[in-house]
Amino acid sequence: MHLKSLTLRGFKSFASATTLRFEPGVTAVVGPNGSGKSNVVDAIAWVLGEQGAKALRGGKMQDVIFAGTAGRPPLGRAEVTLTIDNTDSALPIDYTEVSITRRMFREGTSEYEINGEQVRLLDVQELLSDSGIGREMHVIVGQGQLDAVLQARPEDRRGFIEEAAGVLKHRKRKEKALRKLEAMQANLTRVTDLTNELR
Ligand code: ATP
Repeated sequence: MHLKSLTLRGFKSFASATTLRFEPGVTAVVGPNGSGKSNVVDAIAWVLGEQGAKALRGGKMQDVIFAGTAGRPPLGRAEVTLTIDNTDSALPIDYTEVSITRRMFREGTSEYEINGEQVRLLDVQELLSDSGIGREMHVIVGQGQLDAVLQARPEDRRGFIEEAAGVLKHRKRKEKALRKLEAMQANLTRVTDLTNELR
């Protein structure tokens, strides 16, 4: 699985439709200060379902919509499409190429699409949940975050590594199963007590 392309329309400084194509391997985005490099990264986080305006370096969610410049009026909506190569079936969907689109209007409503079909945010989150590229999975390391990782306590750093390796979700599932087991054990003890009382 790798990111194939990203198309931005009316997203932050990208008023006109702009497509970036990524080849397998490392891609570097270079440009002068304020030219929109971080906006590209924000667009990836946003299309994957980011819900926090602060994480997108804005005050409110609508700040992602092109706000206009001296020579160009503001736009009414922002749209980003991320296309992922899925020839290795890393995403649990029967397509070798998967496009995720998010659209937001000035009144604040968001729409999501998977391969052109309208879906809910939950469907996008579920599609990505086992692939390691969903929200809160540290796939995007912001400026300053690297310092936080380097200065983290060993057990927190282990958490980052486990998350990247895909171990964390199994640990969480194990913890949930153990909690259920404990509750069942308590129920069983209670049933045994009652049976003994009735004898
Ligand atoms: P640096 O190298 O300084 O980190 P950068 O290349 O990462 O800069 P960004 O932070 O991605 O730059 O882009 C900032 C630019 O995006 C600013 O010029 C800002 O005015 C513009 N911008 C942000 N949001 C919007 C918006 N909603 N509408 C129009 N322009 C926007």
